[in-house]
This record gives sequence, structure tokens and C-alpha cells, in this order.
Amino acid sequence: MANKSKFQAIRGTRDLLPPETALWNRVEQTAHEVFTTFGFGEIRPPIFEPTELFARAVGGETDIVSKEMYSFPDHTLWGVEGQRTNIILRRPNFEDIRAVSLFVSQVDDFISQVDVALKAGEMPKTNDNDRALEQLRSGSDRISTFLVPSTAGLSEEQFKLTVAFIQDAAAALKFGDQVSLRPEATASVCRAYIEHNMQQLPQPVKLYYMGPMFRRERPQKGRYRQFYQIGAEILGGPDAPAIDAELIEMLMTFFDKCGLQGTELSINSIGHAADNCRRGYVARLKAELERVKDKLGADSQRRIETNPLRVLDSKLDHEQPIIEKLPRIADHLCDECKTHYAAVKHELELRGVIYRENWRLVRGLDYYMRTTFEITAQGLGSQNAVCGGGRYDGLVELLGGPPTKGIGFAIGEDRLILSLQESGKGAAPQGRDVYIAWMGERAYATAIRAAKDLRNAGFRVELPPTELKFGKALERASKLGSRFALILGDNEVQSGEWTLKNLATSEQQKLTEQALLDYLHGL
Ligand code: AMP
Repeated sequence: MANKSKFQAIRGTRDLLPPETALWNRVEQTAHEVFTTFGFGEIRPPIFEPTELFARAVGGETDIVSKEMYSFPDHTLWGVEGQRTNIILRRPNFEDIRAVSLFVSQVDDFISQVDVALKAGEMPKTNDNDRALEQLRSGSDRISTFLVPSTAGLSEEQFKLTVAFIQDAAAALKFGDQVSLRPEATASVCRAYIEHNMQQLPQPVKLYYMGPMFRRERPQKGRYRQFYQIGAEILGGPDAPAIDAELIEMLMTFFDKCGLQGTELSINSIGHAADNCRRGYVARLKAELERVKDKLGADSQRRIETNPLRVLDSKLDHEQPIIEKLPRIADHLCDECKTHYAAVKHELELRGVIYRENWRLVRGLDYYMRTTFEITAQGLGSQNAVCGGGRYDGLVELLGGPPTKGIGFAIGEDRLILSLQESGKGAAPQGRDVYIAWMGERAYATAIRAAKDLRNAGFRVELPPTELKFGKALERASKLGSRFALILGDNEVQSGEWTLKNLATSEQQKLTEQALLDYLHGL
């Protein structure tokens, strides 16, 4: 049975371990190299951002934002927040002077805690918070009058109103901003473009990123809660079709250099959000879906109302013949979008990029427009999409920036790695070039120096930390997958001739240090 420790990686997350991490590094290095040759620079945005950024950019109604984000209020005042909850839930009895008095002292204690937190900058110092604190103070003054017998003329109604006044103020306090672990990075890249005034740089600005993303999805093969994406965005400049095509060319070059097998590129154009283009099409689609509604499943029926385009994503067998007969967007694009799409295809052909058209490749949000694309690879089962991308000319503006063209993609790195492993392109276990079998104090000093020189020359070296018997040392050397054992004992140190044993052939030779380096380099 496996060793069960108390702690295990959280569901949907996992450790990436050697030798697999060597493959991850190779893939990432390839991305750095290929993207650089296309003039892209790397951006490393933070891993958490205000929740509102993703709600706006990804869409509050999407599954990603509404169900799958890891969100939390960004503060450490859990105790004070607990006091607040306590105050909000209290219903002190007007006639019970002890209950009223307890409530008053709770409120006063809470006020002083909030005051300290605000002064210390542990709570955001906003007008809203100042106002709420003011209201709490005046509520506290008012409610303490109920404790004085001479004001016994006050009514229960007035008491209740005062309690509600205090509770409203407490509820209005904001302890910290709501933040989320990023579920994707396009929103962050656009935010950074605006924040750093990148529209003043030569346009377009070409950025790429790589790193972990977080979505609370149901884990399965190729789907994790912490997963990794490698993505790129082109922001600003024109929406020339060559930009779309070059971005896709870069992507296919990258996959090719990684050795990814069985890649298929699908493209589509989803026009733009106008009555004579996508909006008109969606209206037609919706009307048509209404007609066949009874034959569709529950999900699709719901989507007719919420987002008819998403019906086209359906994988249900019995819906396929129905979907095949639905109106297609290509027949409803406006002239400009039609021309743009034709030009993108032409530009892809000029670059020798092979594509398939898939009219069902759509994106649900308004700011997506024109080009959409997806790449699938082999060996991934149902989760076979390794990359999705598209044009999003309205996004920067939606986030408060100037009108800016944009297009980008995100590669699922976990799936890319899985596919490479399935096709036998996984990393070999990391062995050693040289295992130094040393014996005796004097030899040890030489061994340390030899290890340093060999490592400086770029060889993978294992230097055992304690002396081992000769046979044991050779056994360890083979277990670690070493190619050579460098044998250093008194004789070797004295003569300056070191013994190098080839562990595959068992051949041994005597070499000076320099001759040894030359020999290893020559292999
Ligand atoms: P998206 O950001 O949803 O367009 O996804 C882009 C790519 O990221 C997909 O094609 C997948 O390869 C990958 N991806 C998305 N979600 C996950 C996940 N939960 N686990 C692993 N890969 C994912």
C-alpha cells in the first residue's frame, strides 16, 4: 500500500516531478525561443487580481467566473469580521437591559477595533468605510441612551430602528478587496497594457506569458484545478489579417518544434456584434432553435435563451444531426468580416499553415470577434483541445482602456505534455555522466576538485557525501544511471592518472585530468 501521510496535494492539484519536469522545461524553453523569434516579449503578471477584473473580462455569467474561481476577501481581520457577523445577527430584546447593555459594549468594542484597523491601514481607507464608521458611532451614541432609566419614554420601535441602523453600518464596512486566483491571463495582460500605458509603445505590442491558472472544475485526465497555460497576446495596431495568420503560424511552429503529433488546426470567423453580422445571425439561429426545441436536451433548451451560440458546442449524439442543419454564421457575416476571414485564410495559405474550417467554433462573449481557432492533438481522449484563441477587439476598452485591437491564444501546457508523453516524447530519467567513487581522505579532496571542474564543464556529476566501499559505490553509480565511474584512490592521486570506468562496457582507462575532460567532451 502507498505511504499515506496526513497531507496530500489538494484535489485537482498535483506535484510535477523529475524526470517529467525536464520535459516541462524543454517545452517552456521552446516557447521562449520560438516566441522571441516572432518579436514577442515575456510578461509575468501576478497570480491574483481583483475579482472584478475577471468578472468583467471573462464574463460574470460564464461558468469560469460564476462557479470556478478561487476567490477570497483580501484581509486578515477574521476576528473583527467575526465580531461584525455577531453584531449583524443579534436581535437584542428591548426589555432585557442586560442584553441591551451587552450589545452596546459589543458595538463599542467593534468600533474601537475598526478604528485601529483603519488607522493602521489594515482596512481600506475609503469614504464608504469612513462613513460607515461615522454611522456606527452615532448609532452607538443613540443606543446607549436606551440604557439610561430617565429616557424610559423611548419606544421599542425606535430601539429596533437604531439596532438596524448600527447593523447596516457594520454590514457596509469593507475589510478588504475581493480577489481571485487567476483563471486565465488575458484579462491581466490587458490590465497591464492599460496600467503601463503600453498604447504609447510602437504598436502592436506582442506579449507572451506562462504559468499556473486556477479553476475549480471537476478533475479528470487533462483537467485540473491548478493547470498551466502558455499564451500570447497581440494588442494595439491594426486588425490586419496577417496579424491573425502570423500568430497562428507562430503557434504551429511552436507545436512543431515541441514534436507534438497529430495536431489539427480549426478556424472560424464569428463576425462582430452588429445587427447586420453576428447579432443578426444569432437571432436567426435562435428562431431556428425554437422550432426544433422539443428535440433538444435540457442544456441546449436552456441555452436557446441564455446563449444560443453555445448550443453549437453540444457533444450530445442525438443533437448532432439537428445542429448540422442549423444556419451557419459564414452565410451571415457582414461584407467586412467576410473579407477579413477570406484574407486570414489566404494569409495562412501563404505561410503554408494547414487548417480546417469549423463553423461551430464559437465564443460566447460579445467582445470576441472575427477569427477564432482551436488546436487539437492526439492521445488526449475527450479533452483533446490543447489550445484556444481568438480576436477580442473590444476587451481593452471594456476594462477602461482606449479602443484597442487584440488577439491571442492560450495553450493548455498540461495537455501538451500529456500528448507528448503519449506519443513517446516524454523525458528520459535524468542520469549522471560521472559518478565519483573516492576512497580515503586524500582522494576526497581531489574528488571535490574533480567534481567542481567537471560540473563547470557542464557534466552531471554525483559525488557521494560519505566514503563507500568500492563495490557499493559502483552499484550506486549504476542505480543512478551513470555513464562513467571516476575511480579516485591513493594510487590515482599519487600518480595523477585517474581511472575512468565505462559502466556500460566495463572498460577502464587511465587518464590525466585534462585528458579526461578532453575525452568526455569528445563523446
Ligand atoms: P481556455 O482558457 O478555456 O480557452 O482554455 C485554453 C486551453 O487551456 C484549453 O484548450 C486547454 O488545453 C487548457 N485548459 C483549460 N482548462 C483546463 C483545465 N482545467 N485543466 C487543464 N487544462 C485546461
